[in-house]
This record gives sequence, C-alpha cells and structure tokens, in this order.
Amino acid sequence: MKIDDIILFEVRAARSESPSSRTRQALPLALYPHVEHPAPPNKPDASFIRALYVEIQTDAGVSGLFGPIERDQAFIIAQQLRPFLLGRDALGTELLFDLMLRLHRHGRSGLFMTAISALDCALWDLKGKAWNQPVYRLLGGPTRPAVPAYASMLGYSIEPDAAAATAKGFQAQGYAAQKWFFRYGPGEGAEGMAKNLAMAQAVRAAVGPHYPLMFDAYMSWTLPYATQMVQALEPLNPTWMEEPLPPERVSEFARLRQASRVPLATGEHIYTRWQAKELLVNGAVDYLQNDPDWTGGITELVKIAALASAFEVPLIAHGHSLLPALHVAGSQSPAAVPMVEFLIYHQPNKQFFHNPSYTPENGEVKLPDLPGLGIVLDEAKIEQRETIAF
Ligand SMILES: [Mg+2]
Repeated sequence: MKIDDIILFEVRAARSESPSSRTRQALPLALYPHVEHPAPPNKPDASFIRALYVEIQTDAGVSGLFGPIERDQAFIIAQQLRPFLLGRDALGTELLFDLMLRLHRHGRSGLFMTAISALDCALWDLKGKAWNQPVYRLLGGPTRPAVPAYASMLGYSIEPDAAAATAKGFQAQGYAAQKWFFRYGPGEGAEGMAKNLAMAQAVRAAVGPHYPLMFDAYMSWTLPYATQMVQALEPLNPTWMEEPLPPERVSEFARLRQASRVPLATGEHIYTRWQAKELLVNGAVDYLQNDPDWTGGITELVKIAALASAFEVPLIAHGHSLLPALHVAGSQSPAAVPMVEFLIYHQPNKQFFHNPSYTPENGEVKLPDLPGLGIVLDEAKIEQRETIAF
C-alpha cells in the first residue's frame, strides 16, 4: 500500500461564543512584563473557529487523518516530509519513523519532530483503517475499557474563591485528579508568588487533603523561584509540580527535586526516547509527560512508555489532541501509563469539527471502537474547507 499523496487542509466555521475571557497561565516571556505574548495563528477567535488537518492518501484508497495540527507542522510536512514519503509503503510505521528521524540535520527535536509526529499519528490512523481495528488493538490493547483522565484546568479563573468553587465542581463530576495552572513567575515578584500560593491553598482547601492535585508552571520559572515555590507548596502535598523549568535543564530539575518532597513532572516539550532517557537516568523527574502529537508520534511514545516503566516512572500521556495519547494509554499497563490529561476548557475547541467527540464520564474516557484513531470530521459543522499549500 503506497503513499499516493499527503494533503493539508483547513476547515472553518462561524460561531458565536467567545473564548476571550479565559485566564492565561504563567509564560516564559512574562519575565518581560511589557512584552505582549503573540497569539498562535490558529488560536480560536471570538467569531470563527478553524482547524488544520493532514491526510495521507494511498493507492489502495485507504487514507489516514490527523489533526488539528499547527501551521508550523504543516509547513514542515509540505516542504520536507511529503516529498520524502511519496511512493513509500504506508503500513511500515517503524521504518517510516526511522527514515524521518534520519532525514534532516535539525530533525530530531523541536518543530521538525512535531511534524514527524503528526504524520506518524496519521499513519497509525491509516493502518487502523486498513486493518479495520482501533489503534490500541494494533498496539496490543485494550488493557482496560476506559482510561482515567485528570481534569486539566487551563483557562479557568485562578482567583482563589472562583478556583475553589470550580475545583469542587469538577471533583463532584468524578475526576479523580485535577491540575491547576500558576499565573505568575519571576517577572511578577513576591506579590505574584503570594497570589500563586493563595490559589493553590484555596484549591487544596476546597478539594480536601487527600484529593490528587497538581500544578503547572509552563517552563516559566527560574531555579531559585521554583525552589521557593516547591518548598512553599510542600504542606499542600501536590501530586506533582509540572514544568517548573524548561525541560532541557536536566541537572537543574535534579537539583530542584532534592530541594523538597514535591514530585516533579515534565515531558510535553521534549522529543524522542533519548531526551526522555536523560531525565530518567539523571533522576530528574517523578512523572514523564511526553505527548504523541509532538514527541515522535505513537511509534515513539510506546517506546518511551516502556523505557519509563523500567525506571518505575509513570508516563502520564500529555493530551494536546487526546486521541493518540488515549490509544497509547489504552494499550499499555495502567502501571506504565495510568491516565491521560483532559483539558476541560480547550478540548471542545480541539474537537469542534469531530463527531463523535471524546469526553470523560465519571473521570474516564472510553476507548473508541472506530477503526484507526477515531477522528471523524462532521461535514455538517464545516462551512469552509481550503487546501493549504506553502
Ligand atoms: Mg503542561
């Protein structure tokens, strides 16, 4: 089954609800308070929503779909990976991954790897459709009928009273864990740190002392700031503190891990098993969080899960687009991949054009039974469709 074409297309629709009231998280760029953070080009807008997909077509008529992806990924696919993959065997996911990994001198991490990842996810969708099986079955699952999802609270108000009320509400919906996002970092000084702690204390008080609670700083802190924060968070007993520092600062992570009893997590912004290995062998993390959309696709995330399990470090698959992470989690031991992330506020946007959409019930996402990944575009929701070329 040969790859005939790889196409990129964007779908759009008008919609009335506005996501503009959402609260942002801490950002690395916020060290400069007067520099505005640019919005990503495919960020939802108040008046319309759009989403970009990649489709791999074959000479057998079977195709693989993955998305939404970002324009950076689409550009690299169009310029570098599409011409390289045309004519190759679409079912040889292991070979294709290894070929793509060796293609470009800058191709083993960063944006190039996110483009490889998108194609790998589309290739697994294609293979599932070719063999009429969901991807988790091709990977050796299901290990369970549904995968626990933690509620990831990005976008909700972090004012202590509002956050406490929201946290209680999602606890009552059956989510077995929640993650809240700190808004402040070194650029906002001692006042910001006090606000971070006030939010964390309010949420902890709302959900009670034993409920698993995590916090995220999106790579925005320095080692001294992070050290102060984790030491102050220790009495709140967080399950983990996520991305206190940029993830390539492996020795700083290891030092921070020694500074308090708070477990550390990172991984959504690292790439391939080799970067995961550096965090593991240096004792830098308690949880890994690689994302199949970015780290090297489904092919690579399965390897990272095996590697992490040998270090007794759980992989909590990061859920940028949910489905690839869900299929990997559903194919692995619950000890190796215990749960996935579910971004409560953002998933409805990411799945806007999909039918069915996948949402946790009682804190678990049922594994799809459709062949492939289970991403089906709902033509009734698509008002415009445009092929994207660069
Ligand atoms: Mg995160």
